[in-house]
Amino acid sequence: MKVLVTVKRVIDYNVRVRIKADGSGVDLGNVKMAMNPFDEIAVEEAVRLREAGIATEVVAVSCGVLACQDTLRTALALGADRAILIQTDVDLQPLAVAKLLQAVALKEVPQLVILGKQAIDDDANQTGQMLAALLAWPQATFASTLRVADGKLQATREIDGGQETLEVALPAVVTADLRLNEPRYATLPNIMKAKKKPLEVSTPAELGVDVTPRLTTLKVVEPLKRQAVVMVADVAELVAHIAHIPQVATLRNEPRGN
Ligand code: AMP
Repeated sequence: MKVLVTVKRVIDYNVRVRIKADGSGVDLGNVKMAMNPFDEIAVEEAVRLREAGIATEVVAVSCGVLACQDTLRTALALGADRAILIQTDVDLQPLAVAKLLQAVALKEVPQLVILGKQAIDDDANQTGQMLAALLAWPQATFASTLRVADGKLQATREIDGGQETLEVALPAVVTADLRLNEPRYATLPNIMKAKKKPLEVSTPAELGVDVTPRLTTLKVVEPLKRQAVVMVADVAELVAHIAHIPQVATLRNEPRGN
């Protein structure tokens, strides 16, 4: 069974994000980039399936700029067998990525595609669902456990008030939730070995996919700054303090309804 696993290059989750001065987007200049954390979990799951003898090959795919090669090399160091970069400088939106992945899936014919449930940069949570729809394959999103046997896949999903277990026929699309596994670290020998693993580069045009953005970002702003914490001695001081907060003062001056 071949498993396709997707890896997106995003701003490292430890980095404090800066907004460009003109509000047109996030400043990516000199910023540390890394593999999307949910994709590390997806890679780990795919590699575990191969180690368990269920998967025969794990192919990592990334779509984006040339530097996504680094992210793919990390996936190879974590255990993927080979990698595919769909290279473009166009700012890719989830539908474009889903179409590219569909084209790769039709070429590679995997039995399973594992994506992260969400990219931490756009927080879209759309690509896996769109890919499943385009391929007309069943999907198990937000998987927190995965079991593959007899051409079927069982996935447990955390839902409101409990856990749901789904069974889907293969080929299928799965998106990985945080609790699916704990990803391993890439060891130095594996990082060295990864340099020799095959990495194929293709383009959206070669796959016949139009990746023109369909959404326009109008404005990006910093989150509201938090007010400094004030320590008060007692309730009387707290009430006096609250009364001077502008929103509370406004409420106090508004006439009360009956
Ligand atoms: P999103 O729908 O943007 O929140 O992304 C969900 C998942 O789709 C990510 O965790 C990745 O596994 C995959 N994905 C999104 N964009 C890309 C990309 N440019 N290259 C590879 N995988 C991607």
